[in-house]
Amino acid sequence: MAIRNDQGIVLRSYPFGEADRVVVLLSPNRGKLRTVAKGVRKTTSRFGGRLEPFTHVDLVLYEGKNLDTITQVSIIEGFPRLRADLDRVVAAGSMVEAVDAVAQEDESSLRLFLLLQRGLRALDSGVVGRQLITSFLLKLADVVGVAPALEACAACGRPEELATFSFSSGGVLCQRCRGDRGMKLRPGLTEYLAALERAEFTDLPEAEPSLVSDAMGVARRFVEYHLDRSLSSLAVLG
Ligand SMILES: [Zn+2]
Repeated sequence: MAIRNDQGIVLRSYPFGEADRVVVLLSPNRGKLRTVAKGVRKTTSRFGGRLEPFTHVDLVLYEGKNLDTITQVSIIEGFPRLRADLDRVVAAGSMVEAVDAVAQEDESSLRLFLLLQRGLRALDSGVVGRQLITSFLLKLADVVGVAPALEACAACGRPEELATFSFSSGGVLCQRCRGDRGMKLRPGLTEYLAALERAEFTDLPEAEPSLVSDAMGVARRFVEYHLDRSLSSLAVLG
């Protein structure tokens, strides 16, 4: 058995045995990491609040047969302002849930890690709202290789006569390719989604509330379709 160092952002944790917790993290080097924090359910735990969700921590791990055990934790970035605001906590929960759904164990995930870190930093700096979640989901889809076609037909690549959006075809379809597939798009929606996908989290484009809401609905359904699971925390955001 060996000692090793790693780091990660805490995604969630759950009780394990009498007094321990399994802490699930996203490591930039190793993807989803399941570790054991011993004795954390005692009030005198030496880890304190350092293993709360969203915390970016540096770890010393004792390698085990199945799960590695955390022997030391120090906080790299704690995102304290995010935690002081319920809307931001809910948004962070959605980001973490989506990341948890796509991350794989034993697979390097630097882009996914950096995306989550940027998302949490944006929330910590005061950015909040449906635009942020929509932009996050679209970037996440890109990182895992299922980015929706938004500016050209998903079937033939033509940028003209874009008519419908099809979840199963992977994005917009033109008049010629649509057949009976897809749902009709309101004007400006795909352009707005494309702008949200490209934008920095700290410089997200504004739009009228109903367009913002529709964009989030499409991004959410698209990601859920391709992950083949629903993201329950997004329901809270509507
Ligand atoms: Zn086409």
